[in-house]
Amino acid sequence: MSDLPFAVILGTVQDGGYPHIGCACASCSAAVADPQRRRRVASLGLVVRGGMAIIDATPDLSAQIRSLAEIAGRPVNQPPAAVLITHLHAGHILGLPLLGREGWASTGTPVWATEACLEFLERHEPFAGLFRHGHLVGRALTLGWDTALEELAIQPIPVHHRSEFGDTVAYRIEAGRSIFYAPDLDGITVDVVEQIRSADVAIIDGTFFRKKELRRDDASSVPHPAIADTMSAVAQLDTKIVFTHLNHTNPTLDPESREKKAVEALGMRIAQEGELIPLA
Ligand SMILES: [Zn+2]
Ligand SMILES: [Zn+2]
Ligand SMILES: [Zn+2]
Repeated sequence: MSDLPFAVILGTVQDGGYPHIGCACASCSAAVADPQRRRRVASLGLVVRGGMAIIDATPDLSAQIRSLAEIAGRPVNQPPAAVLITHLHAGHILGLPLLGREGWASTGTPVWATEACLEFLERHEPFAGLFRHGHLVGRALTLGWDTALEELAIQPIPVHHRSEFGDTVAYRIEAGRSIFYAPDLDGITVDVVEQIRSADVAIIDGTFFRKKELRRDDASSVPHPAIADTMSAVAQLDTKIVFTHLNHTNPTLDPESREKKAVEALGMRIAQEGELIPLA
């Protein structure tokens, strides 16, 4: 195990999973046929001396909590010290109800989210009851301010991402080293480039490799930066770049694809489950 504190990648794909729900494309079929290709929904674990925390409560939360405990060498029945929410889209919150009566029935698990996101969760079922019954305790994040998880300074960074009910944040996590974690972005803005530049490692939205990948009529309604464009926008930075939140259409999911090799040729990487990132 790595020196404490450290982060660990617990999931690397877009909200709908991989294989993607209801999809029979060649890529998803390959993942059905070969379990080694399957991936969990994007999430990052944080391990500090006294406990573990997890960014986003995905539909794969149960397996991810188990992996996190195994990797951290901690008992799997130790509830997370915090669940940090980036935003309210399905893949980032659907795991929360598993902490309630039908699942873990945890007591007082802190959920960190922006005021707007917390307000939505605390007012709408099936999330509201989790707070009412004491399984979860809301902790509102103040944008631009650090919160601490033991030796980790954690700063929520507001980012642009279509938000129907709440807002969206990325997280800057810092001890001796720093990570910028931004699984969902509408684009690589000047502000985002600055955040990437000032971090040692940036784990960022790689939903699509190319803009035209999503052949749906509503493709323009799901804006994400394309890896092909992001690569040139950040190529000059010293930061180690890792792409996550991959859509099932993304060719870099294929370990042998030329697109994955093109990313690696620039010294960047496609996120892998179980990968540790030291923060000490
Ligand atoms: Zn997402
Ligand atoms: Zn598919
Ligand atoms: Zn989203």
